[in-house]
Amino acid sequence: MTFNIAMYLQLAVNTPIYQTFEYKTPQNIVFSDKNLCGCRALVKFGNRKTIGVIVSTSDKQSYSGRGIIKEVEEILDDTPVFDMYAVRLLSWASSYYHYPVGEVFYTALPPLLKKQNKAELKPIDLWSAIPGADISSIKRAKTCQSALEIIRKSPCTTHKLKELGISSAIINKLSGLNLIVKTNLRDQVKEWSREQLEVTGTKILNGEQQAAYNTISDASGFNVFVINGVTGSGKTEIYLQLIADKLADGKQALVLVPEINLTPQTVKRFYDRFNVPIVCIHSSMNDSERFESFVMMQRNEAAILIGTRSALFANIPNLGIIIIDEEHDSSYRQGDGFRYHARDCAVMLGYLRNIPVVMGTATPSIETVNNIRKNKYRELILTRRAGNASDAIFNIIDMRKQFIDHGISRELALHINEELAKGNQVLLLLNRRGYSQKLICHNCGYVFMCNNCDSSLTYHRTENQLLCHHCEARYSLPHQCPQCGFTELTPTGNGTEQIFEHLMQLFPNARPVRVDRDSVSGKGTLNTLLDDINDNRYNIIIGTQMLAKGHHFPNVTLVGIVDIDSCLFSNNYRAHELLAQLIVQVAGRSGRGNKQGYVYLQTHSPDHPVLTTLLSGGYQAFTENCLNIRRQLMLPPFTSNAILKADSSSREKVITFISDAYAFMIRESQKFKSVKVMHPSSAYIARKQKRYHFNILINAAGKKDLSDFVDIIIANIDKFRDKSGVHSVIEIDPLSNE
Ligand code: ADP
Ligand code: ZN
Repeated sequence: MTFNIAMYLQLAVNTPIYQTFEYKTPQNIVFSDKNLCGCRALVKFGNRKTIGVIVSTSDKQSYSGRGIIKEVEEILDDTPVFDMYAVRLLSWASSYYHYPVGEVFYTALPPLLKKQNKAELKPIDLWSAIPGADISSIKRAKTCQSALEIIRKSPCTTHKLKELGISSAIINKLSGLNLIVKTNLRDQVKEWSREQLEVTGTKILNGEQQAAYNTISDASGFNVFVINGVTGSGKTEIYLQLIADKLADGKQALVLVPEINLTPQTVKRFYDRFNVPIVCIHSSMNDSERFESFVMMQRNEAAILIGTRSALFANIPNLGIIIIDEEHDSSYRQGDGFRYHARDCAVMLGYLRNIPVVMGTATPSIETVNNIRKNKYRELILTRRAGNASDAIFNIIDMRKQFIDHGISRELALHINEELAKGNQVLLLLNRRGYSQKLICHNCGYVFMCNNCDSSLTYHRTENQLLCHHCEARYSLPHQCPQCGFTELTPTGNGTEQIFEHLMQLFPNARPVRVDRDSVSGKGTLNTLLDDINDNRYNIIIGTQMLAKGHHFPNVTLVGIVDIDSCLFSNNYRAHELLAQLIVQVAGRSGRGNKQGYVYLQTHSPDHPVLTTLLSGGYQAFTENCLNIRRQLMLPPFTSNAILKADSSSREKVITFISDAYAFMIRESQKFKSVKVMHPSSAYIARKQKRYHFNILINAAGKKDLSDFVDIIIANIDKFRDKSGVHSVIEIDPLSNE
């Protein structure tokens, strides 16, 4: 069937306005009977052209105002970019997060489709080994050999090779030596078929795993499961088996992970298990690689999508299951623009599609624990580590009255020494990169600050510069104090560079390595570093929280957390939860196999209740305590928060705005029984990148009240805003109250 009469389209247009706009199909174009919903259209909006996504269609006009309905300029897609579930999910997200609908859809578009044209697929290089080729030239090049080995097993795309840690340089080398040859996979791709599915390496589940697996498999339709088990307890094995069942039914799977480039091993396990096409979406892929993954899922050419939060919006026609690994991880939260929580949106998607959602974590978030208690989510507990590894032993190092050198207590140094002597590895965690947190004049106390931010500068010795960790500004190293002219400047507050240097002095025969954002530039370097660590090339690993995620270090027997006090005393009500998660997670990184693992926490507050609870009762006791406190103090998840954030280059303007907004909010809040509006406060870093930041926290007993109240604010906020320069945004369920 074709249409030659106009269709009326509701479009989510990329503009900061909360409603959709009605357009009609061009009269001179005949549309075939395809689904326009979810396709992009190029439209005139005001006097510019922009992209809109069609969210619904009708043969009747719904706009009843006086203006005329414009025709769209062009429909940009032959197949919808968003399926009907994604359209519903994004529409829901726009109203739940109170974010302009057009911007929500625009954010969800793969980058290549954000441009105002049709997107074309690039050829996909598929590499196959040339049979009988002479490999003598690479006999001694280990990386080339193992790459060739992989390609010989089965032809691989460049993308897959990269996921497996094989660089373009190696591929080029092999091809230069005429050992491998490329063809264009695009010429031959078709839909994956369950008939060809082969599953290899399936493990026999232990009792707990089997029980969890059975519960999930026996349920039908939408359900949320939380597999609660320590690192190494076999969660991934359960995901793999659940996915195998779905693939056997011809269904596709979506696996969300916090930061894929930190966990190349995870991706590899999926490749090892299944012979079906698997694609990824994450931030270290370029736009056309991401588009490729997107299209392969959309056309059912790939069966599994493993990705970070934005993978959630992919068009997956046969989606059968959603896995959310490391559910508690805060990188599921988008931090700017359209601020959504991918875990919560994934649950909504599971609901809309009526399919199971399976989360896994060793440290469930407090929200999730609460949802388990309310029977919204079903918890499945794995208490044992697969294999014969035992749990790590926790110890607190009381820093008071101890000899401390460069942040390392004598006690910790002794334990490090013992483990090194036994040939084991140690891992030290400090969440501060650089050499020292501050540079201070020893004479007058002057602290070197950033010109753009209310923040002290971090001294980086490798670069010999002062860096601002908030705006990335760099300053050359000063030789005297600008205030008094004194030349003795003292670095204070140690960072990873300093600890690294200190450890080299303490243990001159050790082989330390530093892993943080400065020492690891790309995905390649991190992979190489991790391989080198596992090959025992290093025996002291010092790094930031980059180390706490995803990796397993079987030879690490000692984990030291250098400074936990900065997390114990924070204004953010979630700080203790994050600290407890960090401690438990980092402990799980160590001691596989039959060696006993130890965790040492350095603190000046050994009697802090968070520590004593965690050590005596474990993470579960901590969450129980934490929930009780949150309930008593009426904090989320027992209530709901939103935060109004405003910033401007003029302090005066933002203060005027925030105080007017506050007065309005106080007045309006009288209409709601449960809405509380807190006093305005300056943000944690009051001035950042030359802009002044202020917040107002809103708390409500119920989500409905909160949502209705935020609607009122949004409808009125422009009245207070001096158009010339205050920017504001409302965040729903913010991760922090400051
Ligand atoms: P998690 O995802 O909880 O960290 P994994 O699924 O990665 O745990 O399991 C940890 C290790 O134990 C992996 O090497 C995995 O292959 C192995 N493993 C998991 N389940 C079993 C099992 N039932 N039998 C044997 N080995 C298992
Ligand atoms: Zn700065």
